[in-house]
This record gives sequence, structure tokens and C-alpha cells, in this order.
Amino acid sequence: MSSDVTYPDVQLHIDGVWRDADGGRRIPVINPATEEEIGTVAHCSISDLDEALAATERGFATWSRTSAFERSKLMRKAADILRERANAIARLMTLEQGKPLPEARMETLAAADVIDWFAEEARRAYGRVIPARAPGVYQLVIKEPVGPVAAFTPWNFPINQVVRKLCGALAAGCSIIVKAPEETPASPAELIRAFVDAGVPKGVIALVYGVPAEVSEYLIPHPVIRKITFTGSTPVGKKLAALAGAHMKRVTMELGGHSPVIVFDDADVQAAAKQIATAKFRNAGQVCVSPTRFLVQEKVYEQFVDTFVSVAKAVKVGNGLDEGTTMGPLANDRRIPAMEALIADARQQGAEVRTGGSRIGNKGYFFEPTVVTGVTRQMRMMNEEPFGPLAMLLPFADFDEAITEANRLPYGLASYAYTSSAKTAQAVAHQVQAGMMTINHLGLALPEVPFGGVRDSGYGSEGGSEAIEAYLNPKFVSQAGV
Ligand code: NAD
Repeated sequence: MSSDVTYPDVQLHIDGVWRDADGGRRIPVINPATEEEIGTVAHCSISDLDEALAATERGFATWSRTSAFERSKLMRKAADILRERANAIARLMTLEQGKPLPEARMETLAAADVIDWFAEEARRAYGRVIPARAPGVYQLVIKEPVGPVAAFTPWNFPINQVVRKLCGALAAGCSIIVKAPEETPASPAELIRAFVDAGVPKGVIALVYGVPAEVSEYLIPHPVIRKITFTGSTPVGKKLAALAGAHMKRVTMELGGHSPVIVFDDADVQAAAKQIATAKFRNAGQVCVSPTRFLVQEKVYEQFVDTFVSVAKAVKVGNGLDEGTTMGPLANDRRIPAMEALIADARQQGAEVRTGGSRIGNKGYFFEPTVVTGVTRQMRMMNEEPFGPLAMLLPFADFDEAITEANRLPYGLASYAYTSSAKTAQAVAHQVQAGMMTINHLGLALPEVPFGGVRDSGYGSEGGSEAIEAYLNPKFVSQAGV
């Protein structure tokens, strides 16, 4: 694929074949920077899903019997193919999702690293031997793949959201049906293509697009599927987890967040503000671990606000393909009214918009990096995940007040803190209720570390050795000699 690739009409991948949907149903894909239709994506019907299910059952029989050594080799080959094609794939991602080209490229290359890491772990999915009470007895714990998986992934990180689920499943010996995002379908299709071209046997991976509720309501209860994994909003996640529960299926849920950032007055405030403000506007804030509520100790509050606002003002918003763009458009038209409604509600209740607050132009879903102060706990933006380039800053007096605010919402995904005190760092890490905390730097989402939330942010991990355990069943075998 050359780097001036044109956007394709994206197909399904079922039973080793790239093909259109039964009945030929297709829907347009829109470039969020131009609002132009750039291509189409095949929308599956129930008969396509039936075929994918039958193939995935056969694929499971093949893949679960393939040695971990061989699985690992094929996965590493897929990683190499992905790296070779990264420039072209990144371009597709920017066209369909809007993020700046360097971010799209980084996501693609990071996915190759994720594959490599899981490929290594595949060979280390050890069981164990437990000392027995009686002589001559062997008590063995054997790890077996859970079975065919159904994965549902969103549009904000079109490749990254797929690759963790795909690799956890493949490393464990599971086959998988991926329902990738309809709004950003081409780059995840290229991820799957890397595995197909690496030689992963047919039936092991299926790729479908369709009406999300139609697909999930069919796949989750289906007896072939043994494990569900979903990334997306909390309300949808609760629905899918309930459906999975009704059919006793294993589940991993990566849901929403409303991440607190706690900046203590002994921190390097200038450096903290620059680092965390830059993180806020990455992918236009459409990130589940995006820092959102910035709690800053009173003495350094004004200084933090000033630096944060200056970083926000320096963000270069534009088409992600243009050189120098640091923030692209929002990924779809729904995000614009969502942002406007949150900001209008806060303004009406007396908040001050320090910078931004509006859509930019009327072509493309561009929105200004927005910083709001004077916020209260009654405002919608202080309770709902903004999923956009929106930061709320508020002062706190002491440690306990910061912790109370950080834990006020039902979410518990990522959290951040800045302090030069080891004692405060330890206390904040223990007391904030979150699946992840990073202190004095940005250190989330590496393949080798756990990634996941607690409370309404879901359960299960998509990183670290825990990410493979999620696709394995322990089987206990107790054996006496004859
Ligand atoms: P949405 O809630 O309609 O959809 C979120 C994701 O879930 C999409 O990928 C969608 O295709 C999928 N989905 C929706 N209903 C489904 C169903 N019944 N079965 C299977 N999949 C289903 O909202 P949206 O407008 O696409 O995104 C807005 C909100 O979603 C954001 O505000 C954010 O809270 C959340 N979101 C979270 C992440 C994340 O990384 N955790 C990613 C994207 C969106």
C-alpha cells in the first residue's frame, strides 16, 4: 500500500474471505474534517453472523490446538507487517477519525508493540502444580482458552481498541469475532489484514460491521460465544454485561471515566500544567482516560490556570493531514451538540469559560480547546463524561477535600496526581478509587501494565498478564498413580 492511498470500500472478513455483506448493505463513511463521504463500509446481516459463528467455532478448534510457540510466531509476523504498512494505515485512520497523522501513526506502531508483547506472553500462560496431601497425587492447574470471543470496539482509537482484545484472545488460543466501529472501519480492517496476511488460519478471526445493537444482541446470547469484551460508554456496557450475565458468559468491560487530576501545592506546577493540558487535548479529548476534573490546591490554583489556558490557546486545531496540526476535529457530528450542551449548562449556572467554548467554522466537526473555571458539582459537565476537548478546573483547600471530590462520581478509571512529597503520593494512590493512577508523569496504557477500571468504569484488564487471564479458564486435574 502506498502512502497516498485512497480510502476503500471496507469489507467484512468471514471464514478467511474478504467480502461484502449478504444483501449488499453498505453505509457511508464520513471524513470528520471535511464532512465528505470518503467511502463505505459493509453492514452485515444475520446470515453473515451465522456464517461467522460457524467459522469461528471451526477456527477455535484449529487455533486452540495450535501450539503457543506457533501462535506466538504468527502474531509477531503480523506485528512486523503492521509496522511496514504503518504510514498508509495511519493515513486511513486520520481520514476516517480525524486525529493528527503523527498520532495515527503512533497508534499503529504502538499496536505492533502490543502484538509483540502478547505474542511473548502467549508462551508463558503457565498453569501450576499444587503440592498434594496424599503421596503419589499430582494436583495440576491447566489453563485452557475460554472459547470463541465476541469483541465490540469504539471509534476513538480504531486500532488500539481492537488490538488488545484481539491479542488477548489469540495469545490464549481463542478465536474471535470483532465488531469494529462503523464510523472508522478501514484502519481496524488493516489491522485484521496484517494477521490474515501473516497466515493466521481461516475462521480464527472474523471482522464484521453492522447495527451495533443488532450484532451484540445476536452474538452475546449465541451458544458458540463464550466470552464478551466491550469498550464504550457505561450505559451500553451495563446493557451488554446484563445480557452476558443472563447467558453466563465471561465479560471484560472498559467503560467511561471522568478522570480527576489532583495537583498539590508542592508540585512543579508549571511543568504539571503543561504536561497534563497537552494530555487533555490529545485525540480532542475523546479518550476514556482523558484527564477531566483538574483539582488544584488553592495556593497554586491561579498559576496552574494561567499555564493551562496558555497551552490550550496554543493547540493548533485543523485537518489531521495538515502539517503542524496538534488537534483534529471531533470524530462525529454527535460530539458537537454534546459539547455545546455541557458548556451552555455550565455558563447558565455561572461558570467562566476561560478559553474556547465554541465550534470552529461550519465545515468539519472542529471544536475549540475549552477551559472552564468557577464550576460547581451541580453542573452537568462535572458529572457526565465530556468526551471532548473540555477541561474543568477547580481549587481545593486540603488533601481530604481533594480525595472527596475525586471519589464523588461513580466512575473509577484513570486518575492523576502531582506532588513532590512521597508521603502524599503514597496516600493519594491509596485513597483515590480508580483502576489506574499515574503520579508526576504520564504512564498509562503500556501493553505490559494493567489497564482497566473499577465501579461504573467496568471490570477486567486489557494490559499486563491479567489481560490474558481474561481469556483463560483454569482447569483443575488431580491425578493419582495407578
Ligand atoms: P454510544 O454510547 O452510542 O456508543 C459507544 C460505543 O458503543 C460505540 O462504539 C457504539 O458502536 C457502541 N454501541 C452502542 N450501542 C451498542 C450496542 N447495543 N451493542 C454493541 N455496541 C454498541 O455513544 P457514541 O456517541 O458513539 O459515543 C459517545 C460516548 O461513548 C462517549 O461520551 C463516551 O462516554 C463513550 N465512549 C467511550 C469510549 C471509551 O474508550 N471508553 C470510546 C467511545 C465512546
